[in-house]
Amino acid sequence: MENNNYKMKCPRCGGNKLNLNSMTNMWICSECGEQFRDLDAFKREIDNTGSRVKFFVGLSVFLIIAGIFIYKLGEMTGESFMSVLGIIAFPTAAFYLYLAWKVYSTKDEKQAEYERLVKKVRGE
Ligand SMILES: [Zn+2]
Repeated sequence: MENNNYKMKCPRCGGNKLNLNSMTNMWICSECGEQFRDLDAFKREIDNTGSRVKFFVGLSVFLIIAGIFIYKLGEMTGESFMSVLGIIAFPTAAFYLYLAWKVYSTKDEKQAEYERLVKKVRGE
């Protein structure tokens, strides 16, 4: 996709020959090769912080409950692979909790990065 917004410029060299890679949502400057994030996509990501945190926390809770259930079922039936599966759910749940924390704790950092990029790209 070609850049038709005359207001946009490269944050590094100020050039305006920019092409959007729609797969990665990254703009590429044809003059200096600089790659930078699409502002709208970046903004959407920041706006979705709350729902992403809720999603990861919900997934963790689900995994913990499912893990306990499957572990107990493994104990009752003597199927040791089920007990192992149940135990694996816990580090997986911990991983999603970590992701939730990471998304939440970098919110301000991302907002600041977004504002810096807006200033450079739109010259505001
Ligand atoms: Zn450039």
